[in-house]
Amino acid sequence: MKSSASSSRAALARTRSTGGPEGPQGPGGSDAGLFQLLAEHGHEQVSFWSDPASGYRGIIAIHDTTLGPGLGGTRFWPYGSDRDALLDVLRLARSMTYKNALAGLTSGGGKSVIVGDQGTPRREALLRAHGRHIQSLHGRYITAEDVGTSPADMEIIRAETPYVTGLIGKSGDPSPVTAYGVYRGMQACARYRWGTDALGGRTVAIQGLGHVGYALARLLRRDGATLVVTDLDAARVRRAVEELGAQAVEPDEIYAARAEIFAPCALGGVINDTTLPRLRAEIVAGGANNQLAEDRHGDLLAERGVLYAPDFAINGGGVINLSAELNGWSAEYAMERTGGIYDTVLTVFAAAKQEGISSARAAERLAERRIAAAKTERGSVAT
Ligand code: NAD
Repeated sequence: MKSSASSSRAALARTRSTGGPEGPQGPGGSDAGLFQLLAEHGHEQVSFWSDPASGYRGIIAIHDTTLGPGLGGTRFWPYGSDRDALLDVLRLARSMTYKNALAGLTSGGGKSVIVGDQGTPRREALLRAHGRHIQSLHGRYITAEDVGTSPADMEIIRAETPYVTGLIGKSGDPSPVTAYGVYRGMQACARYRWGTDALGGRTVAIQGLGHVGYALARLLRRDGATLVVTDLDAARVRRAVEELGAQAVEPDEIYAARAEIFAPCALGGVINDTTLPRLRAEIVAGGANNQLAEDRHGDLLAERGVLYAPDFAINGGGVINLSAELNGWSAEYAMERTGGIYDTVLTVFAAAKQEGISSARAAERLAERRIAAAKTERGSVAT
């Protein structure tokens, strides 16, 4: 894997092609696990690109393009190993397939990573190399900002490829739209659990007061909800206490906070074997990606009677906002579409109940059914 990532200029590994990889090692070599990894969740394509002149090392993963080109952001991160970077991009690309499918978009799932240190003086050169990498896929993958990248970075990428969205002066910061979608999803949870959309009088524990978490806190406060908050950044916590009357707790105390709703808006993997027994909330609904450490934690939440709004169902507002830019929708229409997350979440809960499975698995099945139907339709058109 390391050799294909660093020695070939663009080694494409197509799991569905009949030919072998163009990288130096084929199946059966010490790299055999790579194809197993891709086949496990049906990824279509992974592209590794190395540009020795700039020091760029990037991976683009395309999970499924049945509904359209793979749409998902570029993450810029100092991964500990090439394998960590690959595993992350594979997992993130797959989530994008589900997120885009559930949001009703005509986009498939993709994601990319630039492996490196944020503080590099060669940032522009790395981003341009990433743009050339994206261009080499001729539109099968469309990028946007993500952790470690910004709209200004997307402008640099655009110098090399048109397959980029979330540009300066276009659809703008997606976070308020994401927060609105989370809020609507939370209302759907309240409706399902308590028979009313109203969040006023409820206590919500928010983990992370960044772009999404703070915007969500504002919406909830406006409705009269009581807020318990935490963040690693003390200034953000102070602001929430002063502006929104929130009660602050230490980062590790948020799981056991006395709150009816827990809203993870910071990191992935926060629902795990350590945190789950400590949770007091009846509902988990937040903006963070990949909240479940493993799929089985969704089952455990259901067994404990905790209503979980699957992250990729509830945090699709950002990608709806990007689609507005791609499709020329108005900001009002993007918000209206985002409001539809309310209905999607209720559909997920109804399917989970009917099928006797967790909400996380039900959401995946709903997304998979939409993709399967599109595949069948394509097949019948072709014949
Ligand atoms: P952000 O970086 O603006 O905010 C994250 C906040 O979490 C920061 O204030 C950080 O200090 C805090 N934090 C980090 N670790 C923490 C910990 N252990 N305990 C408490 N706080 C901690 O990011 P964001 O844009 O608000 O995104 C938040 C999450 O939502 C991420 O998982 C992101 O992938 C996901 N998401 C964001 C969008 C969007 O539109 N921004 C869309 C979909 C999903």
